[in-house]
Amino acid sequence: MKGLLKELIQAETTVEKGELSAAEVISAQFGKSGIDCRIESWGQNRANVIARAESSVERPGLLFVCHLDVVGPGEGEWKYPPFAASEQNGRIYGRGAADMKGGIAAVVVAIQQTVESGINLHGDIIFVGAAGEETDSCGVKRFIESSNSLEKLAGIIIPEPTDFDVVTAHRGMMWLKITTKGKAAHSSAPQLGVNAISSMRAFLDELDKYEFKIQLHKLLGNCSMSVNTISGGKTMNVVPDECTVGIDIRTLPEQDHQAIISDIEQMFALIKSRNPDFDAKVSILRAVEAMETDPNCTFVQDFCSVVGTSETKAVGFTTDAPHLGPLDSPIVIFGPGKPELCHKPDEYIDISDVEKAVEHYRKIIFKFLL
Ligand SMILES: [Zn+2]
Repeated sequence: MKGLLKELIQAETTVEKGELSAAEVISAQFGKSGIDCRIESWGQNRANVIARAESSVERPGLLFVCHLDVVGPGEGEWKYPPFAASEQNGRIYGRGAADMKGGIAAVVVAIQQTVESGINLHGDIIFVGAAGEETDSCGVKRFIESSNSLEKLAGIIIPEPTDFDVVTAHRGMMWLKITTKGKAAHSSAPQLGVNAISSMRAFLDELDKYEFKIQLHKLLGNCSMSVNTISGGKTMNVVPDECTVGIDIRTLPEQDHQAIISDIEQMFALIKSRNPDFDAKVSILRAVEAMETDPNCTFVQDFCSVVGTSETKAVGFTTDAPHLGPLDSPIVIFGPGKPELCHKPDEYIDISDVEKAVEHYRKIIFKFLL
């Protein structure tokens, strides 16, 4: 298990390097146990990997959905090189150790051990290692497009790092770019131009007054919004003709993304009614829906009883889960590793946690597929 985890970290699956090398590591590993596994690759180095441990198909199957990609090492300084997979004091350090190569290694080994034990599975285990979760979820979208023949499932498990909490909800995310257009002029005569920064100020004033029409969610709390980037103007003596801001909105399950866009367009119309020179547009840079599984459904209840908890929780990060909606199966996020280590320097995972995860996943497989 440790060797596999190290190889996965060393595969360096950043957006620049792609996922193919990690897909090859996983495929070779499943191959050792004679488990059917195929790599779907595209572009120079992008890849999904899909494995299936076959059964007598008397029961619905279990689907494990992982992501192969990692974010880059970032600006911060690392004590341990980010892709060396250094082992120190019972931990393995490296980008992706927690998010989520620890979870991947645990699932792969749990499936191998199950198959090698020779027991008769009554439902298939399907493993998906998907590309691009950290950027545009291209891998899971491809998997869904090609999975129309997928059988009925007992449930879906996403082995992201939850530190062994059973997670049934996360907020959605919408990244918006707002652009105001103006008219350039020499700034010694600003009345001849239209200042795009002034237009943006009018919009941001309006945005400050905006309230989301949504009630607090029991697990997820509130919807949030933060204006995180701004740029406008090129030089000191020219009235700026363009200004942009980037806004990160975290949404709740009942919230309609399109309704938020309509509200913003109404703000534009209101400002324009006061100032005919106002010109703005909004575009979506990235959108992920919220995720919510009924914590009282049989799958979640059974899952909780196997891992020894009665409580389900929410997490702050988003996952590929919302894209799995077409499979119409309950989804649980559950895995080793501390979520607060993700995307930070000196990310690590405790080896004992990965071993514990192998045991949990084996028990989960037994519960649902025997
Ligand atoms: Zn992740």
